[in-house]
Amino acid sequence: MTLALADAEAFPKDGNLRGATMRTDMGTYHIRPFGQPCIEGFFGGRFARELEDAGDGAFAAHSIDEIAGFLGNDIRRKLKPLMESRWAHDPFARGAYSHALPGHAGKRAVLAAPVDRRLFFAGEATSPNFFSTAHGARDSGARAAKEVLALLAKR
Ligand SMILES: Cc1cc2nc3c(=O)[nH]c(=O)nc-3n(C[C@H](O)[C@H](O)[C@H](O)COP(=O)(O)OP(=O)(O)OC[C@H]3O[C@@H](n4cnc5c(N)ncnc54)[C@H](O)[C@@H]3O)c2cc1C
Repeated sequence: MTLALADAEAFPKDGNLRGATMRTDMGTYHIRPFGQPCIEGFFGGRFARELEDAGDGAFAAHSIDEIAGFLGNDIRRKLKPLMESRWAHDPFARGAYSHALPGHAGKRAVLAAPVDRRLFFAGEATSPNFFSTAHGARDSGARAAKEVLALLAKR
């Protein structure tokens, strides 16, 4: 979700707002990414799905309320909805990137394991240390390719 930010110069480039740490119905906000006059909001898990289900404008409305809670009501007039994504509803995405539930990080190794020495898996979700990143995805592709080559070498 992205909000346009008026009078952007008054705000720090690449600032971050993470106010709520004791609840999961919250966003994290990237202020002026790459210096652009906007704020990006990131949401996860059940709360992200609820906001998607709530329809157009729900992410922006929540974000404006939450940011106003951090920075005061004056900021409301500086914020305007720009765009919202709905990746949980996209059958070819089904979300943005993976997250493990507490205590289940080790299950990434299960996801990464080949099936019947015929199906091999890559992707950020299979990366033990760099999940949710582009480099984790790239490294996992190299790892899966090595697994295939090692198997072929034995034949
Ligand atoms: C908003 C956002 C910001 C990010 N910022 C950063 C960042 O700053 N730095 C960073 O390192 N990473 C960042 N990431 C994460 C990074 O983009 C991902 O971790 C990485 O792209 C994952 O690569 P992947 O190959 O595992 O999966 P993907 O890139 O998701 O590729 C999976 C592909 O499979 C396709 N697919 C799914 N189902 C099917 C099917 N049934 N049949 C055929 N195709 C299918 C999908 O359409 C997709 O093209 C960000 C991600 C998001 C969403």
